[in-house]
Amino acid sequence: MKYKTRLLPYDNKSALEAAEYLKYGELVAIPTETVYGLAANALNENAVRNIFTAKGRPQDNPLIVHISSMKMLQSLVKEIPETAKRLAERFWGGPLTMIFPKSDAVPSVTSGGLDTVAVRMPSNKAACEIIKKCGFPLAAPSANLSGKPSPTTAKRVFEDMNGRIPLIIDGGECDVGVESTVICFRENRIHILRPGAVTVEMLSEFAETEVDSAVLNGLKKGEKALSPGMKYKHYSPKAEVYIINAHGENFRKYCTHRISTERSVLALGAGIREEGGFLDYGKSPEIQAKRLFEMLRRADELGAKTVLVEIPERTGVGLAVYNRLLRAAAFRIIEV
Ligand code: AMP
Ligand code: MG
Repeated sequence: MKYKTRLLPYDNKSALEAAEYLKYGELVAIPTETVYGLAANALNENAVRNIFTAKGRPQDNPLIVHISSMKMLQSLVKEIPETAKRLAERFWGGPLTMIFPKSDAVPSVTSGGLDTVAVRMPSNKAACEIIKKCGFPLAAPSANLSGKPSPTTAKRVFEDMNGRIPLIIDGGECDVGVESTVICFRENRIHILRPGAVTVEMLSEFAETEVDSAVLNGLKKGEKALSPGMKYKHYSPKAEVYIINAHGENFRKYCTHRISTERSVLALGAGIREEGGFLDYGKSPEIQAKRLFEMLRRADELGAKTVLVEIPERTGVGLAVYNRLLRAAAFRIIEV
């Protein structure tokens, strides 16, 4: 244990303290509207290295740089496409990350050795205030140990980061619950590398929008990931997760059988009564996004060995829920 980790509620005083640690190159976990972030000064190589160590994150998985103004963006990138300007006006601050050719100000550890940098401006008040108080951008991946479900409360951050960082700022439960939408630009098209709460439907209003094939399929052998994060095992609780391609009575029947004939099986249903091994992860895609990671962590706490999850709708933010679930389940889908 390198640190005695403190957990402070967000207010002006704790935000100042967070900024102070960050100026000294230390790590601080902060709330954002998506999930909790493990923040460091994005322009300080040593600080950013500490993120990879604390999370156990592979070095070639680039980080998202969080900003609080368009002026900060200009210092990080070589050019800003017209579409990006329009998207920033509409969706920033908010859960949209855009990829730009990086300027020399961004160290290569931050961009995972790529010549591009991923940037977003959060809407969460605590996150914005802390960035402003720092005066520099913050690199902030999700504040979980690499591979585990992302944390949506400060308590879950503490479970993973206790002893590894000096400070966690508690801003309550995250609004969205899944990580930001990540996009890059291809000629005039928007190319979605990771779906999130800024949906395909919303982006399509601005330009032709396509979804990268790795969003719904694993990478084929030898294929190069456009978004390096997509090649790693992700979002996984200790239990084995399976997606069940059935709804309503069919889902209930199949799971009831598994629950009654095997040990330590839990079922996560979409808008289901919580009884006899069934837990509800919400009916609408928005609630599912908000609850998914928390439910996966809860399944571990309850000692589940197997978790059966009702397949979500794949429209709107549902595509993000499905994308995370596919990885949590290592692409195991059971047809019923
Ligand atoms: P996380 O920090 O855990 O939210 O993950 C950030 C995601 O953004 C990962 O999937 C990265 O691979 C992706 N990403 C970050 N920077 C870039 C970049 N320059 N090019 C492509 N993908 C990126
Ligand atoms: Mg993450």
